[in-house]
Amino acid sequence: MVSFLDKRARAAFKEGFEFSDELGPLKVIHVYEPSVNLKAILVVDNIAAGPSIGGLRMAEDVSIEECFRLARTMTFKNAAAGLPHGGGKAVLFGDPKMPKENKEQHIRAMANALRQTEDYIFAPDMGTDEECMAWVKDEIGRVVGLPRELGGIPLDEIGATGWGLSHATEVALEYCDCELQNSRIVVQGFGAVGKHVANFLTQKGAVMVATSDSRGAIYNPNGLNVAKLMEIKSSGGQVGDYEDAEKLKREAIIDIECEIWIPAARPDVINKDNVARLKAKLVIEGANIPVTHEAEKVLANKGVMCVPDFIANAGGVICAAFEYRQASEAQAMQAIEEKLRRNVRLVLEDTLKRKILPRQAANDLALQRIKKAMSYRRYSLFSTAPRFV
Ligand code: NAD
Repeated sequence: MVSFLDKRARAAFKEGFEFSDELGPLKVIHVYEPSVNLKAILVVDNIAAGPSIGGLRMAEDVSIEECFRLARTMTFKNAAAGLPHGGGKAVLFGDPKMPKENKEQHIRAMANALRQTEDYIFAPDMGTDEECMAWVKDEIGRVVGLPRELGGIPLDEIGATGWGLSHATEVALEYCDCELQNSRIVVQGFGAVGKHVANFLTQKGAVMVATSDSRGAIYNPNGLNVAKLMEIKSSGGQVGDYEDAEKLKREAIIDIECEIWIPAARPDVINKDNVARLKAKLVIEGANIPVTHEAEKVLANKGVMCVPDFIANAGGVICAAFEYRQASEAQAMQAIEEKLRRNVRLVLEDTLKRKILPRQAANDLALQRIKKAMSYRRYSLFSTAPRFV
């Protein structure tokens, strides 16, 4: 028995550090509270630039590895966007559609469990929203992405990430010899990110020919009415309830030919097994880690431009960081536009100049900034300075 436990403990210890490298993660915290059946993980990756900001995700099927990868993405995203924040991510295991009183109990308990973890600032993510952040605010105060009534800039309501993605798309199109006007877009995941990027891009002349949600996909080569779809979704419907379109299986969205393909749902949706099916000129990564690195290489070899996640979808966190400093909504939206346009151009110019993958150019841009921030510290990952966080 003892040796079994020893073996298990050794394995767990090893497992806990298998992602460690020179950048982090600084902390991996398991949160367990049996009285409300709360099981959660927090990964604080790197806080050299300041306290970490990263979403609280509620889902039933997220691994520690995924949580770590998402936290690392936030480190890179915040650094690339020039924000005084490091990266973190929290995952609460559970069905985000559970009864509201249970969800509130889970989120309030989670906030309390992390009361002292001052190097992590809560933010919304898949399965959580502004109301959830208001519960966190009520418990511990350290949170962004609040409802307007509490002084927040409701980033999902105003579509901060979609706004940034629309600017990323416009700049990237210049490098694809393609115009936005009449370009066909496909959006996988018509949620907070997907619906807003669809809205901003179609307002500027693009045509959304297909979209999907967790239940299925729809396709109309003549275009889908984005406002109508937003109405259907906000009244609790599925994209499949939209009438004037062909109904398809969820995964069929990958096969729809278009100029711009925007993943805005789950990680690893484009991978080595399905990347050959993608027929687009440009992929704008709206979701976090939606395309595996292997698949990104395949796309580059096929001449498909791919704007990496942490560059393209930084709009939400820029908005959150501005809210944290009590800036106005207009200042946040302007900063998103400026930062996104500048960063996409920097990354794509470097990609062409050095004949490297956009991912490499984006990593180098972020890494340079993270390393500089780390060089100012006595210890590489944490700071003991008063009021640092
Ligand atoms: P959301 O929950 O509002 O929307 C997700 C949408 O994807 C829903 O419509 C859901 O039905 C759909 N979906 C889920 N699984 C699917 C599947 N397998 N196929 C097709 N559709 C599927 O979440 P969101 O806030 O829009 O976030 C989407 C992605 O964007 C996540 O990866 C998130 O981490 C990332 N992201 C979000 C923000 C933000 O500001 N909300 C910022 C940056 C990145």
